[in-house]
Amino acid sequence: MSASTATDVRKDASQDRQKAMIAEHFERLAHAGESGEKCAYTFVPGNLTELLHCFGLLPVLPEINALQSGMRGKSRDYISLAEKLGHSEDVCTYVKCDFGMMKSGNLGPTGGSIPPPDVLLLSYTGCFTFMKWFEILQREYDCPMVMLHVPYQGGGAVTDNMRRYVVDQLREKVIPVLESVTGKKFDEDELRERLRKSAQAEEDFVHVLESARHRPSPIDAYFGGVYYIGPIFTAFRGTDAAVDYYRELRAEVDERVRNGQGPVLPDGELKEERFRIVVEGPPNWTHFREFWKMFSDEGAVVVASTYTKVGGVYDLGFRHDPDRPLETLADYCMGCYTNLNLPSRVKMISQYVRDYQADGFLINSVKSCNSFSAGQLLILREVENACGRPGGFVESDLVDPRYFSAANIKNRLESYFQMIEQKRSGGGSPEGADAGAGGGAGGGR
Ligand code: SF4
Repeated sequence: MSASTATDVRKDASQDRQKAMIAEHFERLAHAGESGEKCAYTFVPGNLTELLHCFGLLPVLPEINALQSGMRGKSRDYISLAEKLGHSEDVCTYVKCDFGMMKSGNLGPTGGSIPPPDVLLLSYTGCFTFMKWFEILQREYDCPMVMLHVPYQGGGAVTDNMRRYVVDQLREKVIPVLESVTGKKFDEDELRERLRKSAQAEEDFVHVLESARHRPSPIDAYFGGVYYIGPIFTAFRGTDAAVDYYRELRAEVDERVRNGQGPVLPDGELKEERFRIVVEGPPNWTHFREFWKMFSDEGAVVVASTYTKVGGVYDLGFRHDPDRPLETLADYCMGCYTNLNLPSRVKMISQYVRDYQADGFLINSVKSCNSFSAGQLLILREVENACGRPGGFVESDLVDPRYFSAANIKNRLESYFQMIEQKRSGGGSPEGADAGAGGGAGGGR
């Protein structure tokens, strides 16, 4: 779930490359009717991009279309149309945005048409909404649907049984359906080759993420990070284009480290890194730039985020392994961030706070997404207890502009940064400051 093409807030060369890649992908989709290329609708968490490419299938990620619509100011009308057609206000706004887009002619974010699916590949990674979403699409399109059920990491680990369960589904259900839809036989050697490229790109991607350990951080790992995850979380994992993109991005970031530069922000180069923050939760897309500026105006840089792990957690060591092709796909699916239990999330965020020497951590709780939002107040307290740094809490939504209250969020963020400042200068006890973070700057729901 990434930003990629929507606004011109970053100006690095890799950004141009990435924009071109994504634009070309949408071009291919728009001309799929003439070229005969087939497509699979599927989801970002637990996506099987390398496998789809083995069958010549173009991935279509409905969440990406929704967030792009949000950034381009189109989501309000799509959501409103979906609500008029009977979808409740409580339904995840990605779903309503996607449904509204489909009912408005299925023109994608770049204006080209999105072809109807040849197959719906429902990778179920813990979000019940995924099932209801594709049930809706199945009623609209006359095409096969296949589900990959990915077990939740309730016990905090992947067991052999869980892995075998996923591999068996891949072998006995998913691959046969993809073969029948495309008329192409599964080629395991081709999959291995693609997975090799995935691992190469993942190595460079992790290097980029970990560059934020430097002071100043050369990247913003949340607002900037959503651009970096674009290719690897969407249609490009396992391709030469992704390998080239991440190599170029890594070189750019290394150059920034050598020059002692901070990240490129909405208004240009960072002047002074005043606060280093870890962020949990997805961004708001309808006011993305405004939200980012609330951080950058304060000199706050996000040094690590959980959102950039929603389509794969690589910085804890996972790489696609070409020697275990189906097993590695299973491990990948089960390892996505929202498939981790709460203690694992707490551990991960606490580790980020320590490893990246953050001044604190902030939760952006989005109304739409229970996969993220359930348990976030518990996470807030647990991470505060585990690392003794103040947590903050703001609320917004993914693509419904009605839930972005700019004044309220700005106010909370300013209070939060002030409180960190006071702590630094010795004002107030840590206990008092922490209570202010969760209560005053954050506020319970
Ligand atoms: S509830 Fe969350 S995980 Fe589920 S579809 Fe909506 S945004 Fe995605």
